[in-house]
Amino acid sequence: MSDYLPANAIEIKNLSKIYQSKNKDSIVALQNIDLTIKRGQIFGLLGPNGAGKSTTINILAGLVKKTSGIVNIWGIDLDKDERNCRASIGIVPQELNLDPFFKPYDMLEIQAGFFGVPKSERKTEEILRAVGLWDKKDAPARALSGGMRRRLLIAKAMVHFPPILVLDEPTAGVDLELRQHLWEMVEELNKQGITIILTTHYLEEAEMLCDHIAIISKGEIMTSQPKEKLLSMMDSRLLKITGDNLPNIPINDMVSDVKTQDNEIIVTYHPSKINAGQILSMIHEKGGSIRDISTEDADLEDIFLELTAGAHTGEE
Ligand code: ADP
Repeated sequence: MSDYLPANAIEIKNLSKIYQSKNKDSIVALQNIDLTIKRGQIFGLLGPNGAGKSTTINILAGLVKKTSGIVNIWGIDLDKDERNCRASIGIVPQELNLDPFFKPYDMLEIQAGFFGVPKSERKTEEILRAVGLWDKKDAPARALSGGMRRRLLIAKAMVHFPPILVLDEPTAGVDLELRQHLWEMVEELNKQGITIILTTHYLEEAEMLCDHIAIISKGEIMTSQPKEKLLSMMDSRLLKITGDNLPNIPINDMVSDVKTQDNEIIVTYHPSKINAGQILSMIHEKGGSIRDISTEDADLEDIFLELTAGAHTGEE
């Protein structure tokens, strides 16, 4: 890893990407996005499918050409020095594409050669041990489990000791146990000083791992906040009540939305300010009789709605 330590690992300003489809339609994948990723962060880029996460990452990786805007990686302007930008970043792709006949050891050696790491400086053994694949060093890739392949891809992204590691949907389609293992690995790498950027459409993953979360939707950054701050904005839960004579429930700073329909009310409330029991007592006191209830955490969709409904969406 280089000794140079910029304050920000990545700075993105006014970045846009417009793809041309086969029938020459323009597809706007990113619209003037700004993002700052500080050195040392575990940064989550969270958003639904088609939001623009992969496009952003592929621009950082040099796989997709941006349409306009400025991208600065580890203090280097991508337009001025693409080679050094690439050297500063390791990308773990989403797909588990590996040549089935290659063995982990050889694969890392070839990749290190590709990045111009001299033989004397390579740490193939150390990296394979770090990802728990040393005992598989000579097994053909086709003999590795999905989890092992994922770890091998992380190892492959690390051969040139980049200070920034980008993981594109690292746990998509991965079972719970392996997911936790991957999270631990990411945390360990971060402790060693590596800035981590990951894309995910799992809110839970961003919540567990990241210390800063940006939400992207339809090619726009809706918010970029420290996790704690964002979670307090996500303080939202649904309570569905069926019964008779259900009264009107006022909207206030504890209750953000109420939908009433026949014998059903759906209340969106802030659990930090009021709990479901208090809402049910209120209904009871007003003469309502309750037959059934269910609760649900707000999902990403609700959060998007809440964010676009005028909450603070600036970057911090
Ligand atoms: P995400 O990673 O969040 O799922 P993407 O960055 O893959 O989102 O896609 C953003 C938008 O750009 C989508 O509308 C997608 O269909 C479009 N897109 C992505 N790649 C291409 C491409 N190579 N050609 C045309 N459109 C693309």
